[in-house]
Order: sequence, then C-alpha cells, then structure tokens
Amino acid sequence: QFSDDQTWTRSTCPYCGVGCGVLLRRDAEGGVEVKGDPSHPANLGRLCSKGSALGETVGLEGRLLAPRIHGINASWDNALDLVAEKFSTTIAEHGPDSVAFYVSGQLLTEDYYVANKLMKGFIGSANIDTNSRLCMASSVAGHKRAFGTDTVPGTYEDLEQADLVVLVGSNLAWCHPVLYQRLMVARAERGTKIVVIDPRRTASCDGADLHLPLRSGSDVALFNHLLAQIDAQGAVEADFLNNVDGFDAALSTAKDASLDPTGLDADLVQAFCDMWIGNPKVVTIYSQGVNQSSSGADKVNAILNCHLATGRIGLPGCGPFSVTGQPNAMGGREVGGLANMLANHLDIENEAHRDLVQSHWNAPTIATTQGLKAVDMFEAIHAGKIKALWVIHTNPAVTLPDAGRVAEAIQNCDFTVVSDITATTDTARLADVILPASAWGEKSGTVTNSDRTISRQRSLMPAPGQARADWKILCDVAKRMGWAEAFDYETEADIFREYTALSTAARVFGKDLDLSGWDGMSNADYDALRPTRWPISDTRQGGRFFADGQFFHAGGKAKMLAVTHRAPATKRAPKYPFRLNTGRIRDQWHTMTRTGLSPRLSSHLAEPFVDIHPQDAEGLGITAADLVQLTSPQGQSILRARITTDVRRGDVFAPIHWTGETAPSARIDQLVAPFVDPVSGQPESKASVVALAPY
Ligand code: SF4
Repeated sequence: QFSDDQTWTRSTCPYCGVGCGVLLRRDAEGGVEVKGDPSHPANLGRLCSKGSALGETVGLEGRLLAPRIHGINASWDNALDLVAEKFSTTIAEHGPDSVAFYVSGQLLTEDYYVANKLMKGFIGSANIDTNSRLCMASSVAGHKRAFGTDTVPGTYEDLEQADLVVLVGSNLAWCHPVLYQRLMVARAERGTKIVVIDPRRTASCDGADLHLPLRSGSDVALFNHLLAQIDAQGAVEADFLNNVDGFDAALSTAKDASLDPTGLDADLVQAFCDMWIGNPKVVTIYSQGVNQSSSGADKVNAILNCHLATGRIGLPGCGPFSVTGQPNAMGGREVGGLANMLANHLDIENEAHRDLVQSHWNAPTIATTQGLKAVDMFEAIHAGKIKALWVIHTNPAVTLPDAGRVAEAIQNCDFTVVSDITATTDTARLADVILPASAWGEKSGTVTNSDRTISRQRSLMPAPGQARADWKILCDVAKRMGWAEAFDYETEADIFREYTALSTAARVFGKDLDLSGWDGMSNADYDALRPTRWPISDTRQGGRFFADGQFFHAGGKAKMLAVTHRAPATKRAPKYPFRLNTGRIRDQWHTMTRTGLSPRLSSHLAEPFVDIHPQDAEGLGITAADLVQLTSPQGQSILRARITTDVRRGDVFAPIHWTGETAPSARIDQLVAPFVDPVSGQPESKASVVALAPY
C-alpha cells in the first residue's frame, strides 16, 4: 500500500466529483485523521467541510456487519447461494431482461466494471443502470450528440485561466466547494468575472458579478439568444466552423427563439451576452440545474453550440465543463455503467463494438439493445416485468422521482438484494437479502473525477465484521451462477488490467478514452499510481480535447444541434401553483448515510426545510419556522418554512437529503413527478409542481 511515509496513506474523498486527494492516518484512539493532499492536482491540499469531517464518519455506528436474509443474520455462503439461485432461476424462467442491477456513482471503477461485465456479457441484458442517471446522463447525451463521444473537453486549470466563468444550474460554492475555492483564488488574483445562471440566489452568487434568475427550464431559450448575439456581434469563428456541422440550422433556430420563457430583464441578458462575447477565455460550468430536466440534453447542446460557434473549446481557459455530482460518475461512464453504453465509451448498438467487448470478456453473450434507464427500470419492477433486483450502494426508495411508488415497486418485487454499509436505508429495509459491503476507508480501487483524472482510493483499515468489497461480492455471485473462470480475480489490480486492456483494444475504433500501456501495470505500480488525467498517451493539448478541431463523429467533425425551448413537463395549475426546485445543502451528502454521522456537519442546517418567497408566504399566512404542508400529484411532505427572497415568486426550494428514516414527511422526492428527458432518460428533479398550506 502506497504512502509517502509510514504514517499517511493517500486516497480520495468519497463525496463530490471534484475528486479531492486526502491523506489518511489512524490516530491513537482508533479513529482516522484526514487532511488534504497537497500533491493531488484536483485540490492541492484543500478540503471542504464534508471532506475535512470524513474522520467523524468512519465509526461502526449503524454498520451492517453480516449478511441478512429476511432480517436474520446468515452466513455468506447461504446469502450468496440464495442470490445466485434466485437470479439464475428468474433468468431461466423469464429471460435475462427479467432481472436488473441498480448501482451507484459511489462504486469504484473496478466494482462498476465487474457489475457491467456480469450483466451485459454473462446474464445478457443491459438492465444495469446507476444513480448517475440522476446526475449527468443529459451531459453524456449532449456530449455524444455534439462530439461523437462522451468527452469532457477541459481541465480544472481552465477555471483559473479563464477571464469569465459562467455557472449554469450549478451552486458550485456548496456542491463542488474546492473548485469554487480555486475559482475564488483566481478571481482575487486575476479578476476573473463570474456569472451565475440559476432560478435561485445561491451562495455562489456572493462572489459573482451577475446573477440571472431565469425561470426553471428556460436555459435553452437563454443560450439560443446568446448564439444569435454571437452571430450578430461578429464573434463566430469561421475557421473553426470548418470542423463543425449544423451551424446554419442551429443559428437559424436560435434567431427565431424568444427570450420570453426566461422571464429575465432584457438589459441583464444583454450584459451577460456582452460579457460572454467580450471575454474569449470563457468557461461555462453546468451541473444539475441543466441536467435534471426534461430538456436536459437540449440544454447541454445549447451551451455546447455557443462554444463550438466561437471555437472556444479545448484551449486554455476555454470550454464547456460538466461537473459531476458523484466521486466516480466519470469512472462509471468509462466502464459502461449506464444502461445505454458499453465499456470504454463503446456503443451497444454497434455490432463491431459488441463483438470486441464480448471477445475480450470471453463472454457467452452480449446485450444487443439498450437496457432500461432508472425511472423506466423501477416502473418495470412495479409492473412485475423485472422480478429480481440488486441495488448496490444507493437508496432509490428516497432518491428517485415519485419515491413512494418506487418504494412500493421494491416492496412488491419478487426478490430484492441490497449491498450497502448499513441495513437502515429505506431501500435496505425492503430487501429480502442485505449484503454487508466495505465502506470508504476500507475499499481499494480507482475513481475518475470531473476532469478525467484517475486516482487511487486506498484502504486504510480492514472492513469490519464480515463486510466485503463490492467487486468480490459480485464475483462471488457470478461464480455461483456458473461463470467462475471469467470472474476469478485475485485483486482489484487484476480487474483494472483487464479493463485497461479493453481500452487499449478499443483504440482501433478511434475513441477518446486512452489508457494506453496501463494494461501491463504491475500490482506495485497500481498501488503506487499517482493521479493521472487521460488521454494518457497524447498530451499535445495539455490534457484537453478538441483544440485541434478533431472530433469523434464520422468525418471528424463536431455537430451543432438546432434546439428549441421546451417548458418543464409539469405545468403549474390552480391546484398546484408552485414550482418545486430540489437540491443539495452544503454539509450533507445524498441520504446522509455518512455525513449524518458528523454532529459538526449536521449542525449547519439541522432539519429539512422549504424556502418560500416572502410575498407567497404572506399570501398563504405562513411565517418563518412554521410547518408547511407541500402537496403534489405524487405525494405530500411537511417541512419547516424559511422565508427568503433567494427564490423567485412562485418557486419553492427543498433539500434532497432527508429520508424516511430521519423524517418520513421530508422525503422530498416522493413529491417529484417522474418525467424524464426523452434523449438521456434523466429525471426532471427540479421542476415539479406543488401546493403549499400551513400545517
Ligand atoms: Fe470531497 Fe468534493 Fe469537498 Fe473535495 S470538494 S473535499 S471531493 S466533497
């Protein structure tokens, strides 16, 4: 195990997609000391409140220490035999598409790889999706449509080299705090201008020059207007357009677009357009406010269009930049962690791609069509079409839209197995079998952060009780299903070598994911692997893509798409007059399995709340700290009112973290409508409709 000296171990934070490096050490009381790793390129020693509190979250409180079958402790052999037997008999009786895996951006790349191999190559279905579907599927779709592959063009250094950074649907200050710290340093040192585009006034606005509080879902209208202004002000980069198809149609559509859907003041929009056009070194960062939308992929392409039209991509301080919510959403994408992908950015629909993956795995079969994406997967479970489900490190009974219906689906599924570090999540409580998995601090493998940097996550301590690594649990089940040879790995390094060998083989298709040479890595080199950004073998563009105008569509060109504004799928009505926005708070993570263990983190915002505009509150007779009942067509919640002008009139905001365990009525996704983007399948988690009433 690598460390610079005998005391500190290098690893990575398990929370957001910044992917900060941490130094870990056991203290005299058996706890864990944590500090930022000054040598990690993502954070250069910095940590945020969540990362610095990691040591407070590694105790055994709430840990699942042994397998359980129907709530009773069981041996590993009995539990694994049961899981393998249930999946095998279900497949035999109802076919491969009658089973599904729902996994997580918390998985390490090696875990993800094995899960995909088992489902797509051996079971023969693509019914494996991940909670990353809720995070960045629209960015994946937008990238593929524009670039021909799912490539993040830029690097974190671009934030520090830009003259203007635009945050679209991103509260970077709370959700990617170390990146925001880097941006604030750049602003102090070189006067970087910052624009925030968000229906809410968030903490990120405190350091911004402009805030555009647009209506939810109107980003396409705004960026179409920007594209038309780029053309009108002569800022189109004609030479770069030699590398781009679709400019005329995209511009024509943009010129026809109205700004009305945004609800923004025309002078404010003009100030933004002038700033964007007048600062060639511009980075547009976007996150869940763009992705979690029924027009999420179009929003992404509307942003990419502006960068392609100006050639502001792949150059230092320039480019569109999708920041992922989870620590390994990118690693999952790289090994095919979504129902519509194969490993190494290869395509399920492409026969040659399938053949390569199948032969690399020496697999008996390979999925030939896309599997069910998250929302559709749980609907198929509800309908009884999927009869065996394996949920790994995620809590869909809380986090998916229409969460009450999802919980009902899991409860009624013929057989559900959950792998997790605790048995107390809302989803684990509904499972037939619960398998104890290793937690952060015990796991070993790799993760990829938002700027394509692959880092090692290293174990500092053994897993407690009978807990096991996820890849081992998956392999144990695969072996029992009859595929012992294909899942006979001794270490996570074996899996990594197999994956990187597939990457090397896939280079024949000219894809972007370049891990050349890593398939020959020794165990010692794997243990000592330093954070490394791919592409590994091509550093001509400083780790960036597309400055040379070479894209991944046939013919090597990028595509601009003609996209038009679509309002959110749910419409306000007299019965449901408010627009519900949901999101993270600074010091909690997902459903608080870990961060909820830290008193320090829990003291920041101690209970679930709803933000209401003062004039709306007055009209409803609601005052600060009152309990408020929220009702949507999907369900009800009761939250504490905060009265604030941070939200627009007619909008309300509530956090996503509280679960049925901590406060049954605060499980906010039970209110969210299950509408998805038709291209990406990502749910519209930020634009449901609700009614409010004093409780
Ligand atoms: Fe962890 Fe993200 Fe904070 Fe870095 S910014 S310490 S990765 S939560």
